[in-house]
Amino acid sequence: MAHTLPVLPYALDALEPHISRQTLEFHHGKHHAGYVNNLNKLVEGTDLDGKSIEDTITAVAGNAEKAGVFNNAAQVWNHSFYWQCIKPGGGGQPTGALADKINADFGSFEKFIEAFKAAGATQFGSGWAWLVLDNGTLKVTKTANADLPLAHGQKALLTMDVWEHAYYLDYQNRRPDYITTYLEKLVNWDFVAANFAAA
Ligand code: FE
Repeated sequence: MAHTLPVLPYALDALEPHISRQTLEFHHGKHHAGYVNNLNKLVEGTDLDGKSIEDTITAVAGNAEKAGVFNNAAQVWNHSFYWQCIKPGGGGQPTGALADKINADFGSFEKFIEAFKAAGATQFGSGWAWLVLDNGTLKVTKTANADLPLAHGQKALLTMDVWEHAYYLDYQNRRPDYITTYLEKLVNWDFVAANFAAA
């Protein structure tokens, strides 16, 4: 069974004015679709054919000869996850057990926000900012290019794409404005809480 491009969980214009229809058309319809197509071409007829996306990623992580498979598989996973991390009318703050855990591990929600913004802003070039569970502790991390928590034994709870293709049409070089908007208007804390509850 070939890997498929997931349908977006909202309409292409649903995140406007924060993320435009044009950005989603390119980001989902061209970039994400491109990773899916590349991955399918790379694994067709190999022992990775038919494996789940997670099993594909863990099978090739750290194998330099399979970097192409890793990069495309990881980008497929990262984007499928990213679309669920945002929603129309998102933002605000988490509640319940996740809020308690953020307070316990970061000191306060504001300290978490500070760390997450810094991770996104200081990721040089392309990559991702994350909220992860690492051996039972919440951490903010950043990864370069396609790299992801699964390759480091961590459980991803939230991600933010900071590749230029995620924001350039709407924010040009103003990555910090995209990051602030992501946190204040777009984050789907229900999804993050569900990931935390399932961890
Ligand atoms: Fe992207």
